Amino acid sequence: MLEKQYREMLNKCSRCGGCQAHCPLYTETGREPYVARGKVELIENLQGGNLEWNDRLAEIFSTCLLCGSCSENCPNGVEVDKMVRAARKDLVAARGLPIIKKNVFQHLLKYNGRLKTIGKLLAFYQKSGLQKVLRGTGILKLFPMKLAEKERILPRISGKAFRDSFPAKTGLDNPKLKVAYFTGCVTNLVTPQVGASVLKVLSSNNVEVIIPVQYCCGVPALASGEMEVAKFLAAENIKYFKSLDVDYIVMDCATCFSTWLEYPELLKSEDASQLAKKVMDINIFLVEILDIKLEPRNLGIKVTYHDPCHLKRTPGGKSSPRELLKRLSPCYEYVELELADRCCGSAGSFNLTHYDLSQKVAMHKVDSIANSKAEIVASACPSCIMQLNHSLQNSGSKVEAKHVIELVAECIESDE
Ligand code: SF4
Ligand code: SF4
Repeated sequence: MLEKQYREMLNKCSRCGGCQAHCPLYTETGREPYVARGKVELIENLQGGNLEWNDRLAEIFSTCLLCGSCSENCPNGVEVDKMVRAARKDLVAARGLPIIKKNVFQHLLKYNGRLKTIGKLLAFYQKSGLQKVLRGTGILKLFPMKLAEKERILPRISGKAFRDSFPAKTGLDNPKLKVAYFTGCVTNLVTPQVGASVLKVLSSNNVEVIIPVQYCCGVPALASGEMEVAKFLAAENIKYFKSLDVDYIVMDCATCFSTWLEYPELLKSEDASQLAKKVMDINIFLVEILDIKLEPRNLGIKVTYHDPCHLKRTPGGKSSPRELLKRLSPCYEYVELELADRCCGSAGSFNLTHYDLSQKVAMHKVDSIANSKAEIVASACPSCIMQLNHSLQNSGSKVEAKHVIELVAECIESDE
């Protein structure tokens, strides 16, 4: 049974079909169950007892990017992405999670040590030559579920977790601000250069950085309707951050950022509410709090920007990354992207569970990047960046996706 607020929302949908024009999945499939209106209809029937959860319905409700584009453009204010999440929660209560997800959430996500071991194994796979051999023999193509293609989504992994490579405190003499850094899993295990850039930019602006013990933000579980694991991870994070004497909590991942903003509702605790007030995306922090000045050298490289769905609707979430990129001029010459705020198709693990559909969504972005003539596409979400790099490579493009903070750090470097 859905919560009251979502049951009430069902009546607000006039079935106008306006959401069809805004749903990236409807654009690709042309199928009603995949668009917001179709999902509202199905939820209503589930609620009314005319339908029961089955494999087909589970597949339909897993086929949503949770990009929020339908909700943003709905004339009646129906928040379909939130309703889909509520429906997934209902599904988990009725039928449990698929076995792979259940094991990943219960036995991996809750344990930092096990996540690090996976990172090390993947790094060994990539560095030992095994990856080259397997790719060369084409054996991966014999596996089901597009394993050969999915295996290429992962960038090169260092094998050493970011949080193990840097001190827990940067230790400045007289800092103007103190922040706690929530690194997120991707920066910690896959893209440590993003974390190093955050430390470099903050330290060079006289901001003390503390990197406390922390866990996954919980979004994979939250988006899948597995509330027990989501609450466990949120509560662990609150436990480790609440006693810190800091002015802000910064993060480089748009998805972690938006998840932290949900902690108060998820945990219904005063600590979570207080900490949510300190949470800041790094781009917003650099523009609105630090107002950093950059005087970079002229590299004359054209850069464009992709809006992560989880950042663009936050106050300052659209303008701050762009403002930073503009301040990098003439080091980087900023050009606006035609479809900047269209979802890239990553959506957490959607690009793994629905690989072909996810790539179809991504190709619109790839085309608009090509039209922009940019050499680099910047973004503010490590998952989007992985998806963009993979999709660009698939299309034969030489354009590279990077985090905005990496570009800021590079330009500071050029100045030194
Ligand atoms: S979700 Fe909104 S846009 Fe879509 S059919 Fe309902 S009222 Fe119309
Ligand atoms: S959240 Fe995105 S993918 Fe899901 S129904 Fe709405 S527009 Fe379509």
